[in-house]
Amino acid sequence: MFDTHCHVDLYPAPREIISGAEAAQVRTIAVTNAPSVFPATERLTLGSRFVRPAIGLHPELVVERAGELPLFQEGLARTRYVGEVGLDYARVTEQERTKQRSAFGTILGWCDEAGDKVLTVHSRRAERDVLDAIGTGFRGTVILHWYSGPLALMERAVEIGCYFSVNSAMVRSNRFSALLSRIPDARLLLESDGPFVSHTGRPARPEDTITVAGAIAACRGWTEEQSRRKLMASLAAALGGAPAEKAYPHEG
Ligand code: MN
Repeated sequence: MFDTHCHVDLYPAPREIISGAEAAQVRTIAVTNAPSVFPATERLTLGSRFVRPAIGLHPELVVERAGELPLFQEGLARTRYVGEVGLDYARVTEQERTKQRSAFGTILGWCDEAGDKVLTVHSRRAERDVLDAIGTGFRGTVILHWYSGPLALMERAVEIGCYFSVNSAMVRSNRFSALLSRIPDARLLLESDGPFVSHTGRPARPEDTITVAGAIAACRGWTEEQSRRKLMASLAAALGGAPAEKAYPHEG
């Protein structure tokens, strides 16, 4: 299985999360929340077969960490994976929203220029502006992480090529079947969003996405094997198309 959004560096024992993902062969995108902490996750994941480091700037940290954008650009040259990035309009002023849009726009521009990046994107209460910022013809893969916005906007997200990563908390929500019904099979992905999301009373881990795949199977009327196969096909499509000449340290 796989996990496209896990905050490996925020567990009390990150190395255990990595060895768990390795043992269960769960391909994992280890997101980070600020450019200054990216090198630590790069070191943690060095030599890992299944876990990849992602450079991020969480929208809730933009005001405090905007000065780290040059570090973001440096780190971006060393990885295909980007996240957590995006916009968050819960509890912020218009001035802060403007700063978030500016940082996200800058990051999207760099990713578009590179052409081969895989982004895991936060969009709480800001779904419309996130989609506007991505626009049409963006060069790269956009995964909307824990989408919780209007159903109508999901169709627009699908039209512009976005993927959706589903976690254990989403599966437990009342809106799950309505949200899931709008996502085409080929755009469905899985995430733990650990350690923020809980799974059976403890922080979710990459291996737990197998349970999410089971819940999706039940909703879609698939067998567990069909679910696994379709989800792995979505992952392959989401990660496909990397220019061969581009060798990142972790992809070697
Ligand atoms: Mn997250």
